[in-house]
Amino acid sequence: MSSHEKSIIIIGAGFAGLAAGIYGRLNGYRTRVFEMHSLPGGLCTAWKRKGYTFDACIHWLVGSDPKSNYNYIWQETGIAKGREFVYSDEYWRTEGSDGRAVIFNTDINKLEKHLLEFSPADREPVMDFINGIRMFSKFDFPSDREPFFTRLRKQVRTLFAFMKYGKEFKRWSDITGEQFCSRFSDPLLRQAFSEIWVPEFSMVFLFFAFAYINQRNAGYPVGGSMPMSQALEERYMELGGELYYNKKVARIITSGGKATGIRLVDGTEVHADRVISAADGHATLFDMLDGKYLDAATREPYEKWPMFHALLFVSLGVNRKFDEIPTSVSGLTFPLKEPVMIGDKIRDRLPVHIYNYDPTMAPEGKTAITVMLDSDIEYWKKLSEDRNVYLQKKEETAALIVSLLEQRFPGITDQVEVTDVATPLTFERYTGNWKGSFEGWLITPQNAYTLMKPMPQTLPGLKNFYMCGQWVEPGGGLPTSIMSARRLMKQICREDGTRFNTH
Ligand SMILES: Cc1cc2nc3c(=O)[nH]c(=O)nc-3n(C[C@H](O)[C@H](O)[C@H](O)COP(=O)(O)OP(=O)(O)OC[C@H]3O[C@@H](n4cnc5c(N)ncnc54)[C@H](O)[C@@H]3O)c2cc1C
Repeated sequence: MSSHEKSIIIIGAGFAGLAAGIYGRLNGYRTRVFEMHSLPGGLCTAWKRKGYTFDACIHWLVGSDPKSNYNYIWQETGIAKGREFVYSDEYWRTEGSDGRAVIFNTDINKLEKHLLEFSPADREPVMDFINGIRMFSKFDFPSDREPFFTRLRKQVRTLFAFMKYGKEFKRWSDITGEQFCSRFSDPLLRQAFSEIWVPEFSMVFLFFAFAYINQRNAGYPVGGSMPMSQALEERYMELGGELYYNKKVARIITSGGKATGIRLVDGTEVHADRVISAADGHATLFDMLDGKYLDAATREPYEKWPMFHALLFVSLGVNRKFDEIPTSVSGLTFPLKEPVMIGDKIRDRLPVHIYNYDPTMAPEGKTAITVMLDSDIEYWKKLSEDRNVYLQKKEETAALIVSLLEQRFPGITDQVEVTDVATPLTFERYTGNWKGSFEGWLITPQNAYTLMKPMPQTLPGLKNFYMCGQWVEPGGGLPTSIMSARRLMKQICREDGTRFNTH
């Protein structure tokens, strides 16, 4: 049978699912994507309220530079087309109660100068950090889109880089952000390093992130998340893909050690030669497949690996501009006058992300802002046992956030035109992600090896079944979701003895 007659069912129309569909169509497969929500993009999403757009995803898109070696995935999937990127000078700002602020400049030379001036006593960890970013900037991974000799040259260079920096790479893999920040003597610097990224994360991830940001290869796409998700959907449909919304998959049908199709929650059965799940990993393995195809290695992450926490995500539409606040990739935090219980945790600082660099997010003269806090889904589950109590808590939370923002932005209370609160339950309901996690597995010293050796995308004892997306790509993110889909389709082409096509 030629690949042209073969069919693939894909569960989920997030970035991974739609990308699997795109690469499937580019290689002559009949692809059908089943998505439980009514929109494309999964976690890469946004919603509109009274003229404001509240974006729940994109801060930076690795590979935004057309000359970079990741940009090809955005070209192949239609996301690069006509997209404009913004490159802020600041990544993050940690404000202290003493009037000082630690500013994470996206330019590494400016960052070095600022951090050294900020706390000369912390020269050693500062330089360790800066040198780490410089070292990681040297890695230039080859892609299969490049001409053979360019690829070969890059492969050789990467090999040498690993030989030269392998020990350092390993050292940083084994250090978490939390461990690293304990090396600073200045308390505000320590605070700043503890909040720029998830504290349990291995430092290697932070280095790669800063390296891409410094190279101006991780820009913010004007318009935010939803236009990117729509572009992906459009590319898939243009290629003749089939896409079914409001179709939740309940089971993966198996027979004789092979996946043969899916059953939707309404009982409809659909069959195909292959099934790919680009949906939540836990639901796929433990619900759709009843936990039947698990060996110790497949089970391990679900039992032992830490995940990105769930989010309490508060959005506000504010009738004012924030021209005095420098644009920033991720925003700023400021100290609260006194500790306050927000949701399930006591907090003494508040982060805020101000979209003053994207005019499409708010009507003229106004601004969308968001506050993103970690929160435990169990707390919200308990509250939701009584819907009124849950809704009341959301309302109270919005009012509380506005009153706290007043401490930093006097007068804001009267300028807030709309508030919106998404809880971990909201994320779980709309995307199916386990415990409301917003990006899957953290990269920690325990699993940093997956940066070099990807997680398996198949299951022991089950043929014709595959997985892609953030649950098989520790660290999560949009580029890795696309790349895992691309790698998978390449594998499927190999199984069928056909040449992988990307045009
Ligand atoms: C606040 C926030 C900020 C982020 N910032 C960035 C950033 O700056 N840069 C970056 O690269 N990444 C960022 N991410 C991460 C990125 O959004 C995710 O890692 C990525 O979107 C995951 O894509 P995915 O396709 O693997 O999974 P998902 O987006 O979770 O897609 C899975 C899809 O499967 C569907 N589904 C689930 N179960 C079923 C079922 N039973 N039947 C049918 N359909 C089902 C879901 O509805 C969903 O559409 C951020 C995420 C969040 C939430």
